[in-house]
Amino acid sequence: MSEPIIYVNGTFVPESKATISVLDHAVLYGDGVFETALAWDGSIFKLDEHLNRFYKSLHALSLKCPVSREDLVALIVEAVKLNNVRNAYIKWIVTRGSNGKPLMEPSGCIQNLIILVQPYMYMAAKERIESGLRVKTAAVRRPSGQVLDAHIKSLNYLNLVLAKLEAKAAGADEALLLDSYGRVCEAHGYNVFVVHGRSLQTPRHDILAGITRQSVIELAEELKLTVESTDLELYDAYTAEEMFFCSTAGGLLPVTELDGRSIGTGRPGPIFREMSKAHLDLIASGRHGIPVYDPIRAGD
Ligand code: PMP
Repeated sequence: MSEPIIYVNGTFVPESKATISVLDHAVLYGDGVFETALAWDGSIFKLDEHLNRFYKSLHALSLKCPVSREDLVALIVEAVKLNNVRNAYIKWIVTRGSNGKPLMEPSGCIQNLIILVQPYMYMAAKERIESGLRVKTAAVRRPSGQVLDAHIKSLNYLNLVLAKLEAKAAGADEALLLDSYGRVCEAHGYNVFVVHGRSLQTPRHDILAGITRQSVIELAEELKLTVESTDLELYDAYTAEEMFFCSTAGGLLPVTELDGRSIGTGRPGPIFREMSKAHLDLIASGRHGIPVYDPIRAGD
């Protein structure tokens, strides 16, 4: 496979030539924001929604994207084309940049835009997607908005990394994180849903406003399911009939075991299957897609 092409320092280069300064505040302090989007069959799904969240994250951290929104769209489309992929994982990052000093002083930093594209990759092994994930509640918590607002998709994801390490050490597939009050919050890079009957519930505090979470809410309403953003205790998860995680990169992933308790029947349930199908159909429909290739290629 040829080397991936990456946009960095204002230009497209092969991955082996894609470098940033060791004095970039992203390296020194995890200071920057990112977005992850998905291209499916040559269309970028819900790009506008990702860009809206991206610009809010930038604004909240007093960062500026080095290019206009219009140019950013063009560069993302170009990055997918240059990597010649139709099903892709797309990530773009704005780092605070460097001012030549290894100090926590942002003045004079020049922001850097990085765009990465890789062929689509599954976030869990196929058999785990089929049987359902075994999940462990992590001791480490999601920070509250007073500490580091989870709405900001920042490069400061260490508490999710710690949670994942904890889950792995315990032999689980993924970690569930609670918020600082002990309520169910989100997973390692996923939003969370629990199912009781034909009713879906999802945490509402200290979470990233997931694009997939919003798609699930809208699809559930179309399917005449009840959906509620609410406060959930671990008890609500342990006693749920079904539970699933969702994200752009992972889609919908069933959870069949939490902290040694089986969820529902211990198998992915009918509501998960209905929702997962609806979500895959929505992506495949191209309804919210920005086409990357010209219509001739997109149609072949
Ligand atoms: N929560 C966190 C902490 C995330 O990083 C992500 C994305 N990886 C999500 C939820 C899911 O968000 P989205 O559906 O927009 O990918």
